[in-house]
Amino acid sequence: MADFSANEKAASRDILVGKTTAEISKLLTDSGNPGYRGQQIAGWLYRKGAASFQDMTDLPVALRTDLNQNCVLGLPELRHKDVASDGTIKYLLAMHDGLTVESVYLPYQQRVSVCLSTQVGCPAGCTFCATGQGGFARNLTAGEIVGQLLFMQRESERRISHVVYMGMGEPLFNIDNVLTSLKLIGSEVGISVRNLTVSTVGVVPGIEALADADLPVTLALSLHAPDDALRQQLIPTGRKWPISEIMKACRHYTRKARRNLTFEYLLIGGLNDSVEQADQLATLLNTWRLPGNVNLIPFNYVETPGGYKRPAPEAVQLFREQLEKSGRIVTQRMTRGTSISAACGQLRRKAADVHQFDLRLEAAGSPPQK
Ligand code: SAH
Ligand code: SF4
Repeated sequence: MADFSANEKAASRDILVGKTTAEISKLLTDSGNPGYRGQQIAGWLYRKGAASFQDMTDLPVALRTDLNQNCVLGLPELRHKDVASDGTIKYLLAMHDGLTVESVYLPYQQRVSVCLSTQVGCPAGCTFCATGQGGFARNLTAGEIVGQLLFMQRESERRISHVVYMGMGEPLFNIDNVLTSLKLIGSEVGISVRNLTVSTVGVVPGIEALADADLPVTLALSLHAPDDALRQQLIPTGRKWPISEIMKACRHYTRKARRNLTFEYLLIGGLNDSVEQADQLATLLNTWRLPGNVNLIPFNYVETPGGYKRPAPEAVQLFREQLEKSGRIVTQRMTRGTSISAACGQLRRKAADVHQFDLRLEAAGSPPQK
């Protein structure tokens, strides 16, 4: 029979990941220990790659035993891992309740970047996205978001310097936990907040909340279409927040955070990849006087109800040149790790097939109302 008592016991323990040094120290002093023990534990957890209390070798054995009984670190567990020839590693990580998310490790010559998930599934339901098509289960806690980074840092010999919130889920539908996680990564893990990027499908109240949070992170806007009609075909939440509202919120963000935006534009063959649409996009961004690079992302094939295709390489080239004529700096997302199915949500689908994981997803609901 399953050992339910062990699970119940685990559920009542304090989870440490997601807490600040001050909060961990308070837990320790409340149980009669000196406050500096909290600093030691936070150091092990956030900066020294401890996987268990046993790893915290400068703590007295009695304290480690006590911590084992009353607390858990709360780090995710590995379920599946795919390594591509270019060094990209895609992880499928399980949370305490068994639900899984994807996290990606991206080593470059000058830096190491990781891509984190913010939700299990995504309620936005974008028609080109494997995650969006797979439904939504729940938000991740701040500790679960940071836990993915800590897991990958432990696996990596190189120091992770950059973090992008571009995995599964819409970060701004989980704004409170995302803000807490950004602060933890800045203050506890020690990665500069300027090296953090949050990608959004355009959740206006979330962009405003991020602007008010005074965290100079880079905001990446997934635009994907130059007009509302086409955008709404691709992105159901576009009906709630039209492009003009999103542009207004973005302008507020650039002024408040003093950071340029990045505009992401997914190119789907024959749908949004014409030279005229490149012109429309340039006009849109220039009319709103929004500085920032445009990052072109060729559609990464997933089976979709719309039967979308990858764009022809010549179309990508022409689209790019047209945008550049308007004075925009255009970058193209490197197709890293394509051999391991790089687009968000794909590994999870594949692993579910291979391992018959219980994804336990609810049917896609409407996005949380703000
Ligand atoms: N929800 C946020 C962040 C996660 S998605 C957002 O939408 O911005 C991260 C990026 O992956 C987005 O720009 C999204 O448009 C892109 N993406 C999703 N499905 C894709 C696919 N099949 N091919 C290429 N990019 C995809
Ligand atoms: Fe969600 Fe982003 Fe995928 Fe849209 S593209 S469904 S917002 S994860």
